[in-house]
This record gives sequence, C-alpha cells and structure tokens, in this order.
Amino acid sequence: MKGFTSRIVHQDRTADIEHGSVHKPVHTSVAFGYEDARDLAAVFQGTSAGYTYGRQVNPTVDALEAKITVMEQGLKTICFSTGMAAIGTAFFALLRPGDHVVSSAYLFGNTNSLFNTFDTQGISVTFVDATDIDAVTAAVTPQTKLVFVETIANPRTQVTALKEIGALCADRGLVYVVDNTMTSPFLFQPTTVGASLVVNSLTKYIAGHGNALGGAITEMGHFDWSTFPNIYDTYQKGDPQLWGITQIRKKGLRDFGAALAPESAHHIAIGAETLALRQTRQCETAQTLCEYLNDHAKVERVYYPGLADHAEHARAAELFRFPGALFSFELTPDLDIWEFLNRFELIINSTNLGDNRTLAIPVAHTIYHEMGAERRASMGIADSLIRISVGIEDVDDLIDDFERAFG
Ligand SMILES: *Cc1c(COP(=O)(O)O)cnc(C)c1O
Repeated sequence: MKGFTSRIVHQDRTADIEHGSVHKPVHTSVAFGYEDARDLAAVFQGTSAGYTYGRQVNPTVDALEAKITVMEQGLKTICFSTGMAAIGTAFFALLRPGDHVVSSAYLFGNTNSLFNTFDTQGISVTFVDATDIDAVTAAVTPQTKLVFVETIANPRTQVTALKEIGALCADRGLVYVVDNTMTSPFLFQPTTVGASLVVNSLTKYIAGHGNALGGAITEMGHFDWSTFPNIYDTYQKGDPQLWGITQIRKKGLRDFGAALAPESAHHIAIGAETLALRQTRQCETAQTLCEYLNDHAKVERVYYPGLADHAEHARAAELFRFPGALFSFELTPDLDIWEFLNRFELIINSTNLGDNRTLAIPVAHTIYHEMGAERRASMGIADSLIRISVGIEDVDDLIDDFERAFG
C-alpha cells in the first residue's frame, strides 16, 4: 500500500485494535494498571513498552502519532495540545542560554512572538529572509544550533528556500526545523529536503474541520544527535537518531505537560482521513479565486504561489503538489476594507486556516496588530491586506460572494 490516503485510512489497523474496530477507540483513562508491579516498573524504566500516565502517552494519541509518522515518512512523532505547544516545547527542550537560532522572518505571528520571548531568556534569534539562501547562510554563527522555517509563509505566501537551507544545515551540522503546517504532508514532505524535525499544527489542514486543536513534532532521522551538545546523559542511549525526540518527549511533553487530549486526537485522526480530498479541492479553488482576483480592477495585488508573477512560483511548482490553499490580496485604496469584509455572506470573518469553511481576515488589524507598524512593514503587510483561507465550498458560490463584497 503506497498511496497517501490508503495508508492513512488503514494505518490504525496495522496494529491490533480492540474488538476489530476500524479506528482506534477514544481511551479516556489517565492511569493504566498492571497486575505485576514489576511490569509497571519496566515501563517506567523503558525496558518494555506500555502506558503509565496520560500526560506522557495514551493509546489514542499513540495511534495518531503513528499516523503522522507515516504521513511525514519520519521515524517518530510526538503530539501536543496545540501547534504552539509543539514549537515552544521543542525549543525549550533542545536549547540552552547562549545558543543562537536562525529563523525565517516570515513567520506565523505567535511563533514570532514566542521567539522574541526566547530572545529574552538567553536564546538569541536572528530573523532573516528565508527565501534567500545567502541571507540564511550569512546569519549562521558559531553559536547557531538550529534553523527554523515555514514552508509557505502566512499571509504573504513567500516560499522558503527549503532545499538550499537543507543542504546548508547538513553541511554545518545544524538542526533543521521545518513547520509544514501551511502545506501539510500531502502537499510537501520535508524529509525530501533533509529536515531534522517537522512541525505540524494539526489544528489546520490535517484536522481540517476546525473542531480540535493539536500539534506534532516528527523526527525525520537525518540529524546525528550524537553531535548535539545539549542532550542530557540520560537520553544518550540507544539509536542516536532518536536522542532529540526522546529529550523532547521527556523534558518537553512530560515536564511541560501540554498533552493532546484523546478526544482531540480522535477528531484529528478522523479529519486526517480526508486530508488529500479536502486539500486538493481547496488548492484548486484557491487557484481559480486568485486568477479571478488578479484580473479584478478593484484588486491591487494578489499573493499566491500558484500565480506566474509570484516571486517563488517556480520553486513552489518544483517542491509542492499544489501551491497551497491560502492567499492574500490588497484592495485598491478607494475600497473600505471593513465595508468590503462585512458584505461577505458565505465567507466568514474569522481567524484560523485549513478549515472546511472559507475564512477572511484583515491581517494588519488582527493577527499582526500586536507586532506594530514597523515590523509589519518589514514583513510586507499592508493595511488593506486580506488573508483568505479557502474552504471546500463550491467555487461559484465563493466567486458570487466576492462579487457581492466588491459591491
Ligand atoms: C496555526 C499555526 C501554528 C500554531 O498552531 P496552533 O495549533 O494554533 O497552536 C504554527 N505554525 C503555523 C504555520 C500555523 O499556521
């Protein structure tokens, strides 16, 4: 079985499931009992597999972790309560004061805010134009431990120099963290560019229905953790490819406690079954809408990697199955952004992305408000910029709604 969807749909059945169930049931038990106390001790000591306490592992979450590992073609996955918990926890578990990180400047807003917090805790972060390999290379110092990028940036849709940065990280022995949320493993598999760790906000395309929060980190097996100075002695055991993810599970998930709820894991696993179907339609609709908006007299600019005039159009075509289902555009100055948005009847004024419903948001006034005008300008975010996360509605209904909004 090789197909992306076939593997997701049948993944749970590759292990024993209670009563022959076709999906993994929701296990809500926090504690797990053992008849022989020595078996409990063996699980604690890592000499046998099993469950102890819900903050660290749970059978339903475990099944989702296995599914994401298959989707990303990685070695091991850890799920978290949110995507932010996954990123924050990994940084906290792996980095120490004095370490330096090179990060894309085109970042999800809360990740940007988080990295600024790490900067106050002794882990310095340099933000660079990650579409430009020379800018990334120039930012690396002897203290650099890790490079962090997203695949397609939100909201301006810059496409990172993913392959070139992978080669740089391999050459310099740097941990390469790729946030794959905007593409999902259906559009892009970061293992193909040598990613060390892959982040997914499960909340977005993988869950898809906007009904559960979750995050994941997957170890890809490309990084030799025996060369990484921050691994505690306790975790320097067994296969060095797994030292990093083990430290993230213990120092990160266990000690920080941002565990994914089993009910959420179930919602996400059900959503993941239709990822390819949903995202194919969302991307095709995004392309149609962008071509329509690009030709519209009341639109100043459209940012979407599927358009031929996008700066990284060729890179997106080379790397991704589709150029994504999120785009942004600027209105001409004569249109009032609030009146425009308030005329939508189908499209919802809302944050989130990857939902089955099409969502619109005035970026500068909402998700990028807190960072201030200067940083917004450096990220190329105009006051009239509207971000659209394309859902699965019928494309003609969406075009009708845009016509209504233009008035
Ligand atoms: C939403 C998002 C996150 C954070 O995920 P949550 O599940 O909302 O915490 C991280 N990275 C990217 C690119 C995102 O879009």
